[in-house]
Amino acid sequence: MIYLDYQATTPLAPEAREVMMPWLAGPDEPGFANPHSPHKPGRAAAAAVEVAREQVAALLPPGGKVVFTGSATEALNLAILGLSPKRIAVSAIEHAAVLDTVQASDARVDVLANDSAGLVAPDTRIAAGTDIVAVMQVNNEIGTIQPVEALAEAAHAAGALFVCDAVQGAGKLAPPAGADLIALSAHKLYGPKGIGALWVRDGITLQPLIHGGGQEQGIRSGTLSPALCAGIGAAAALADARMEEDGGRLEALWRRARDMLSHWTLNGSTEQRWHGNLNLRVDGLDVARLMSELRDIAFSAGSACASGSGRTSHVLRAIGLDEAQAKSSIRLGFGRYTSLGEIEDACARINAAAAAQGV
Ligand code: PLP
Repeated sequence: MIYLDYQATTPLAPEAREVMMPWLAGPDEPGFANPHSPHKPGRAAAAAVEVAREQVAALLPPGGKVVFTGSATEALNLAILGLSPKRIAVSAIEHAAVLDTVQASDARVDVLANDSAGLVAPDTRIAAGTDIVAVMQVNNEIGTIQPVEALAEAAHAAGALFVCDAVQGAGKLAPPAGADLIALSAHKLYGPKGIGALWVRDGITLQPLIHGGGQEQGIRSGTLSPALCAGIGAAAALADARMEEDGGRLEALWRRARDMLSHWTLNGSTEQRWHGNLNLRVDGLDVARLMSELRDIAFSAGSACASGSGRTSHVLRAIGLDEAQAKSSIRLGFGRYTSLGEIEDACARINAAAAAQGV
């Protein structure tokens, strides 16, 4: 199996798995303790959670706190709904975790325009009276990198807070400077599934969404999993240490894949993009047939969240593709554990299968 779906999820780093294991111990080891218990094993678990919090904080700007959540989706719900906004501005190419959350709020929603490269203009005007501007750092379908620093400034100039979905950028790029709230997810940075984090700038108060024991600083109730916390912490530390090395490897893979698939059209900006993603189309391609012929290559038709729903990707439509173009697009995502040989093999087979369709 060649795994080329790194935007859907990343493999768990062996280093992160190893750090998690003692916290998944059976009855004979103390690692199962509740990190909110005041006894010795509980305090040891709490200490591991705090180490992890520091490790995650190191990926984020100074001057804020990290709140652990069950996912980035939960973190984004907390960021948006927890601010009780009356008016929100979002880009049209946000993940459903943002788009559906703003729709579920009582706020008036303004949609910020993007161009055909999948970018929101840095000088986009934000309407007076806007409480939140939410624009993602890296798009999960087409890999475009938004001018988030400039957009954070535009938000602040209008008196709004800037919420950034950094799920696809965290641990890979510098954090979105100027953001007031930043969401990330462990399983997109080689950590475990089931844990995310929300970074909240000091001085910002959020209304909790989940009520109960008040465990996460009174903002998010529920017993934390020391194993998941240790996993996200180790994954964050590793990503921080390897950021340059991981990025450099990806450049080489991206260039080779782009070369081998040079007759495919790239969806989204060529320059402002993350090089672990290739979203490509070729007119007339039957993507379902391609995928069924290449069952041992795991890749995606559009976003993993939208695939299977029968809906055309809202991101591809927002960059101006028509239904047929969107439906003839594939997403290849690669990362830390992808080898050059895998890229070459996959691209050759994708090309051959597409050629057999006569496209
Ligand atoms: N935002 C983006 C850009 C994503 O790619 C994803 C996951 O696909 C999410 C948010 C949701 O993350 P999680 O799976 O942690 O809820």
